[in-house]
Amino acid sequence: MKAKAAIGIDIGGTTIDAVVVGRSKRVLWHERVQTEAEQGYNAVKDKLLELIRRAQEAADINGIGIGIPGPVDPTSGKVSEVVNLGWAAVDLSKDLKKAAGFDVLFMNDASAATYGEHVSGALKGIDRGVLITLGTGVGGGVILGGKLYEGQHGLAMEIGHMTISDTGMYRCACGRNGCFETLTSATALVADAHNRLTAQGSSGWLAARVPFDAKIIMDGAESGDPFCENVVHDWLQRLAVGVHNIRMLYDPEVIVFGGGLSGAGDYWLPRLEVMALHQANFKAISQPKLKKAQLGNLAGACGAGFKAYNTFTKNEEVKNKF
Ligand SMILES: [Zn+2]
Repeated sequence: MKAKAAIGIDIGGTTIDAVVVGRSKRVLWHERVQTEAEQGYNAVKDKLLELIRRAQEAADINGIGIGIPGPVDPTSGKVSEVVNLGWAAVDLSKDLKKAAGFDVLFMNDASAATYGEHVSGALKGIDRGVLITLGTGVGGGVILGGKLYEGQHGLAMEIGHMTISDTGMYRCACGRNGCFETLTSATALVADAHNRLTAQGSSGWLAARVPFDAKIIMDGAESGDPFCENVVHDWLQRLAVGVHNIRMLYDPEVIVFGGGLSGAGDYWLPRLEVMALHQANFKAISQPKLKKAQLGNLAGACGAGFKAYNTFTKNEEVKNKF
């Protein structure tokens, strides 16, 4: 007999990751498909159902957790809108439950990643910790008193939309200007490089690599290209403002960085640490440790799966919970 397990799914703007996790907290199965959100809700829903069908071949499933790039009401689990995917007034919970026959719960994707890192990653054993995801946008999650805190409506730690400037690299999808993610996301890093190329002329490194993305800019900085080094340096200055604000809000032990840009964390984390120290007030009080997420880009899928496992095994396998 196959062991009880849960499916965790992270619906991102570019890819959908699905995992199966169980009592061991290890990833028992994983598949990734392209989201292709532009094809509409029904096409994405069909992809989810196909992933769920394949996951069932790997384990005896008792529930599904899904990370969504938007706020999720922590009490009702209701998803009101997912602007990043162009979804409004859809009932994914009902549609999946009806088609797949399992209980389904939803989490904000960054909260799911935070939960995942807390169960089995860089936030394990931490009572006061923050996770920041740096990708196409910027998200966050917080552990307070050893538990995930999601706020009244699931809006807590939507740090991508805290306003830290009069203006950003682009106007934010939320309708505001100067949101943290319009200054520190991968999108902002690339937009800044493009703006500077227009204003200051060419960079040898980037000119040979058009169209370039955030990873190419990071690679350039690591290789010592002065243009890329400057772009990354200024990006870190803006990120350090956010780190300072989070220290003032929560005084956390640890701030963990996930998302696509964390891949180059070995290069930029020590530099961010120096800048954060330089900008700090209350210098006699120790700074939060800055760390890279351990579950990498599967943190969100694993976190949603862990939450589903813990929630849906409640009545049947109480002893097996973690
Ligand atoms: Zn915003």
